Amino acid sequence: MTENSISINKERLIKDMEAINSNTATPGNGSTRFSYSEEDRKTREYLSREFKNLNLAVKTDGAGNIRAKYNPKENDSPSVMIGSHIDTVMNGGEFDGLAGTIAALEVIRTIKENKTDITHPVELVIFSEEEGSNFGSTTVGSKVMTGKLTKADLKTLYNSEKQSAYEVMQAFGFDADSIGEDLLQKDEVKAMMELHIEQGGVLEEESKSVGIVHAIAGMNTFQVTLNGVSNHAGTMPMPGRKDPLVGASKVIIALEEYARTQVNETTVATVGKLECSPSGSNVINKTVTFNVDIRDIEQSGIDQVSNYLKEKVKETAETQQLEYEIDLIGTSAPARLSDTVIDTLVAKAEKQGMNYLKLHSGAVHDTMMLADVTDVAMIFVPSKNGISHSPDEYTSYEDIEDGANLMLEAVIELAQ
Ligand SMILES: [Zn+2]
Repeated sequence: MTENSISINKERLIKDMEAINSNTATPGNGSTRFSYSEEDRKTREYLSREFKNLNLAVKTDGAGNIRAKYNPKENDSPSVMIGSHIDTVMNGGEFDGLAGTIAALEVIRTIKENKTDITHPVELVIFSEEEGSNFGSTTVGSKVMTGKLTKADLKTLYNSEKQSAYEVMQAFGFDADSIGEDLLQKDEVKAMMELHIEQGGVLEEESKSVGIVHAIAGMNTFQVTLNGVSNHAGTMPMPGRKDPLVGASKVIIALEEYARTQVNETTVATVGKLECSPSGSNVINKTVTFNVDIRDIEQSGIDQVSNYLKEKVKETAETQQLEYEIDLIGTSAPARLSDTVIDTLVAKAEKQGMNYLKLHSGAVHDTMMLADVTDVAMIFVPSKNGISHSPDEYTSYEDIEDGANLMLEAVIELAQ
């Protein structure tokens, strides 16, 4: 830190994080804090008390997204927005989402207690249901806030109890009927930044304490179904078999090789889910269904692998005498982050003598959803062994402190 700069209070940040992490549905086995759960309610109550202490103007929308504004000049200027999410996956870690939320809260506290002169308001944003733990669909809150998910869409997303997202939001006490009426407008926000754990191993490998994200990968998710003929594993000779698992294997191997050697360095393709039916050790399967996750920071890379997948499935189905179906079940475009905000972050990191690295994010974040509304950027902090979505997730508080101080400096500059 340079001499006359201000910095966040690490002890206070630790106290908040520990208090919130004590609300878990799975004590002794990680943080489990789904949106619209009792743990979520307690966390919201805790944060509300902090907002009250800071005298922030708080608004909560129909999906439970929170916007808490510090506006010392009491003007209508667009806000510098900072924040993240507070929900987790089942048996998740203590840092995913929460680190960025509390770092942002600390930034606002620090600006307020130092009476730092700023013109633009600074707004803490907390997105609901980022992880998709309830309805199997990620970044729900930020999509609602930016109009990418409508009230009608929320009536078609269901949890395991067959309740729709709309019903769950309403039952929790949010005004889900108002969804769509208070979308985030371009003139309300000047820039948006999110601090988040990296959830990968690049920063640790390079011994960096902070990452400045220059792009977020987009993705296509396909579901592929191959249908063959089920038969006895002992009596059916090899010639003439219509085995969909053999077909699926050929597609998966070809896809891995293609993505590794024929596209961009940033392109990745993964099959993480595969189901066989009837799935018996002495039976040739009738049906195999698998999902393909394709990501890149370049749309061309996503398109190239998607086209290759379609061709390969068609060709394999022909040679193996299978019937096939291929559906695009999810898509998001790569997000270019704002050069203005990135340049500000780089300049501040240089000034503070920080050990930083510019990198891209392979994971999707709420920030992406705001990229068409305002200038966005992200700060990453290292994940030990690259582990996330696990009780073993760990980021040192020293690194979170560095990331938060970088955000603090950038916020002060952008809010001038
Ligand atoms: Zn997260």
